[in-house]
Amino acid sequence: MMVIERTSIVAYVNELLRIHDYSDSSTNGLQVEGSELVNKIITSVSASVELFEKAVAAQAQMIIVHHGILWEKESRVVKGGLKKRLEILLANQMNLLAYHLPLDGHEELGNNAVAAGALHLRDLQRFADVGWMGNITPVPFDQFLDQVKGLYQSEPLTFAYGPHRVERVGICSGGAQRSIVEAIDRGLDVYVTGECSEATMHLAQEGGIHFIAAGHYATERPGIQALGTHLQKKFDLQVEYIDVPNPI
Ligand SMILES: [Zn+2]
Repeated sequence: MMVIERTSIVAYVNELLRIHDYSDSSTNGLQVEGSELVNKIITSVSASVELFEKAVAAQAQMIIVHHGILWEKESRVVKGGLKKRLEILLANQMNLLAYHLPLDGHEELGNNAVAAGALHLRDLQRFADVGWMGNITPVPFDQFLDQVKGLYQSEPLTFAYGPHRVERVGICSGGAQRSIVEAIDRGLDVYVTGECSEATMHLAQEGGIHFIAAGHYATERPGIQALGTHLQKKFDLQVEYIDVPNPI
């Protein structure tokens, strides 16, 4: 197994995911500087004290997540949970990297690209900024729903107001429930995202579309896992995905 400089990994992933192409509320790339050398990386969906403690126990020097700790709209005051998270990182020379929208939108490793591939979408077009829409071989909705459950390993919240057989599918990971409006405008039969809002049910009914909220966490596992596999091959490093399940 190799030992790689932190700066090489950060530069490589920043370029790979083209972080400067996105205007994002997340600080993408390096968020907290730790040790200079890395031989083990932990990947996971979201930053938390629980994750950071597990990464320390796993003797990693770098954590890469989809949801980091530095967000534009959040307070910069270091107290409470943020203080606890920083204490663990700094005390253990742990590097923290985060990739938010770049890891939703990437054409190969993104949450939505991986899902579109697994669900066999063809003729892909951009949808909802970082998502994809495309066609599948028409199947009864129940059959498609089973495929979504299998992909995300979750029990989705579903509003089944679309046609019996589905062909035109849109996917956008995370909290993209508002994009149901675009899904209806673009004539999709089914829209898959992570979260749901109170207003979503009537929008789905009135728009005549199937809406599937498969879980914010569940729909954002595929991208970080794909990135981990990619880095393992690229750098011959130890990369371990740590699941910290979240029902939302
Ligand atoms: Zn998210």
